[in-house]
Amino acid sequence: MDLCVLGSTGSIGKQTLDIVRSDEDIRVRGLAALKNIDLIEEQIEEFDPEICCIFDEEKAHELAERLKAKRDKHLRMPKIVSGMDGLIECAVWENTDTVLVSLVGMIGILPTIEAIKAGKDICQANKEPIVCAGHIIMPLAKKYGVSFTPVDSEHSAIYQCLLGEEGNRIDKIYLTCSGGPFRGRKIEELKNITPADALKHPSWNMGAKITIDSSTLVNKGLEVIEAHYLFGVPAEDIIVAVQPGSIVHSMVQFEDGAIKAQLGAADMRVPIAFALRKGRRAGFIGEKKLSLADLRKIEFLEPDLETFKGLRLGIEACRAEGTMTTVYNAANEECVSAFLSGRIGYTDIADSIEACMAAHKNISSPGLKEIFEAEKEAREFIREYCRYA
Ligand code: MG
Repeated sequence: MDLCVLGSTGSIGKQTLDIVRSDEDIRVRGLAALKNIDLIEEQIEEFDPEICCIFDEEKAHELAERLKAKRDKHLRMPKIVSGMDGLIECAVWENTDTVLVSLVGMIGILPTIEAIKAGKDICQANKEPIVCAGHIIMPLAKKYGVSFTPVDSEHSAIYQCLLGEEGNRIDKIYLTCSGGPFRGRKIEELKNITPADALKHPSWNMGAKITIDSSTLVNKGLEVIEAHYLFGVPAEDIIVAVQPGSIVHSMVQFEDGAIKAQLGAADMRVPIAFALRKGRRAGFIGEKKLSLADLRKIEFLEPDLETFKGLRLGIEACRAEGTMTTVYNAANEECVSAFLSGRIGYTDIADSIEACMAAHKNISSPGLKEIFEAEKEAREFIREYCRYA
C-alpha cells in the first residue's frame, strides 16, 4: 500500500506511523502537518516521502531550507508544498492509493473530497468532513468506487459489526461513550472546571481539543452525526450508551433483534490498523488484550443529557441535518479555544453552542459554499457572544 497521512504530527498520525513501522507492506508517499516542522523533519528522514505539505507557508519554507542544508545522497528531497492547495496536492498525489485523513477540524473537508475524486481509498479519522459534509462525501465515495473506512473507534466498531451484513437492515446503533471524566457530576459541579481539570481524560490517549470534547460529550454529539451519515441511520435510531471503561466500542442491533458488538482494549492503534490493512487482522499492537476479568466489568448507563447539554445539542443538530451540523461543530471549536485560553467558563461552552444554534437559520442539503458560510457565521456569532458571556 502506498499511503499519504494528512495530519502526521497529531496523535492519530503518530500512532499511524507506529503501525507503518511494523508493517513492511505500507510505504509512506506523502505526509502533511499544520506547522510542527521539527517532528515532520524526523518523519521525513525516517519514512522518505515524495511529497510533504506544511500548511503554514512560512514554516514550509523553513523546512525546505533545513532539508536543503542537510541533503545528502541518501536522502532525496521531498516536494514541499503549503496551504490548502498543497494539502490537496498531497491528498491526490499520483503514487498513493490510500489517504489517511487525521487532520483536526473542517480543514479536512476539501482534501477528503479531492482524494475521493482522485480515486484514493480513504481511512477517515477526521470527524468534521463527515459531520459537516457527510451528505456530499458518502455519495461521492460510492460514485468513485473507493473504500471509505472510519478510524474513530466507535465507527470502526460499527463498521466491523456490519461486515457480512449486506442487505440486512440496521434497527439501532448503540454508540458507546466512556461518559468522560465528569460522569456522575451535576451542572453546578461543572461550572468551575478549569482547562487543566478537563485535560485529564481517563481512557484514551488523544489531543487537547478532542479531550475537552470528550469531557463535555460534544465529541459524542459529533459522533452521533458521524454515524448518521456514515451508516445512513436516522438520528432517533442512534442510541448513546455510556459504558465506563471503553471496552465495548459500539453495537448494532438488526431487525431480528440480534445485537453485534465489537470489544477491545482502549487503544486507537487497533482501529487505525484495521482501517489501514483494509480489514486484514494482523499482529496485536496494543499493550494488553482484553481478558474475562475485563468483560465482567461491563455495565451500560444512560447519558445525562441535562448536565451534558453538549450531547443533547449534537443529537438535535443530527435531526436537523443541513447546515446545523456545521454550526454545532464550528460553534464548539470556537468555544473550546475560548475555554482553553481562559476567556469563557466550562459550562459556557454548551450554553454558547445552544445560543448559536438557536440563532441559525438551517439550510437543508447545503453545498460546500453554504457549509463554509455557515461555519463563518457560527464563528463570528461565538466570538461576539463570548465577549459578553
Ligand atoms: Mg471516538
